[in-house]
Amino acid sequence: MNILVINCGSSSLKYQLIDMSNEEVLAKGLAERIGIEGSIVKHQPTGKESVVIEKPMTNHKVALEIVINALTDSEHGAVKSMDEINAVGHRVVHAGEKFSSSVVINDEVMEALRECIDLAPLHNPPNIMGIEACQEIMPNVPMVGVFDTAFHQTMPKSAYIYPLPYELYEKYGIRRYGFHGTSHKYVSGRAADMLGKNIEDLKIITCHLGNGASISAVDGGKSVDTSMGLTPLEGLAMGTRSGDIDPAIVTFIMEKENLDIAGVNNLLNKKSGVLGVSGVSSDFRDIEGAAEKGNERAQLALDVYVKRVKKYIGAYAAILTGVDAIIFTAGLGENSYDTREEICKGLEFMGIELDVEANKVRGKEAIVSTENSKVKVLVVPTNEELMIARETRELV
Ligand code: ADP
Repeated sequence: MNILVINCGSSSLKYQLIDMSNEEVLAKGLAERIGIEGSIVKHQPTGKESVVIEKPMTNHKVALEIVINALTDSEHGAVKSMDEINAVGHRVVHAGEKFSSSVVINDEVMEALRECIDLAPLHNPPNIMGIEACQEIMPNVPMVGVFDTAFHQTMPKSAYIYPLPYELYEKYGIRRYGFHGTSHKYVSGRAADMLGKNIEDLKIITCHLGNGASISAVDGGKSVDTSMGLTPLEGLAMGTRSGDIDPAIVTFIMEKENLDIAGVNNLLNKKSGVLGVSGVSSDFRDIEGAAEKGNERAQLALDVYVKRVKKYIGAYAAILTGVDAIIFTAGLGENSYDTREEICKGLEFMGIELDVEANKVRGKEAIVSTENSKVKVLVVPTNEELMIARETRELV
């Protein structure tokens, strides 16, 4: 069975075609600048040369047609015809409280996703466009929606209700939803395998540290708390997002800087985080480079970032009443051993003992704590596409 995994952004479409008999990627790629000038598809068939296709793409449907042509092309394709694509798994960011697991997409599901647009105005519309494009181009192929929010639906009410007037939850669904669920689920499952333990017996803290970053408390394989909230803005400091701040700052800066709602949203989502503090970049490689050259604000951004992660590890150890494993994943978590070292430094009192040499890995699965460390520390590269493909196979 071959499964096409689709992840649509407002102007992009990421895809992977996976052969589920051995979970091998047959081809992957990215369509960019959809709806803007200079649209381009970068297509990478496994074992063959990559190709770049430059063609106007006015919308996601046109982009998908080009992707399907690339996948079935006699020269750089991965399959002979569209008939060899047996199902499609779609990444969808927000499913509100509607779905606590992946579902086969039908009209009712589409309606529910449209109802969630209010909660994820930037993410759900392109996700929906991607599904609609697939439905038009391959009407007989079963499709599954895999939601970033689903894994966190197991959180107890005490973790997801904000201390606000309760009517706001009832009226607008204002509560913690959490994101990156597919990643937190995948890495916690892999960690249990790597440790040779049953996930049911483990208390795990998963740190997804990418451009967007979130951290979760996973008890017996179930999410019991997570740092992102109603939107992906809450929690850790991120590339350009502030994460937790005193909510009074919002109205304060609106007044002082004469900002409207869009302006303050832009400031908190696009101009804050390590970019805002360092003034250098949102990319940790640039910030680490600048800090090494003595840029004090770059160093400060890294320190602020690390401190926030430590705080959450402490908080979630308390929520879990103990911790067996800490997992690092996503761009920074998988690659930056300096950041992992800084985060774990000083946490020996909790039974966390990093093996500094073993920790010097990038992008590879590894147990990086010492033999005697009570709490195991693991690096687990995330694989959201594979997780989406697995969930899709289960359902179709
Ligand atoms: P997202 O999927 O949220 O866009 P990623 O998981 O791809 O993000 O992570 C991107 C982040 O990972 C970037 O900020 C980048 O700086 C960081 N990163 C990637 N490789 C390294 C590295 N070798 N050292 C430090 N940071 C890295």
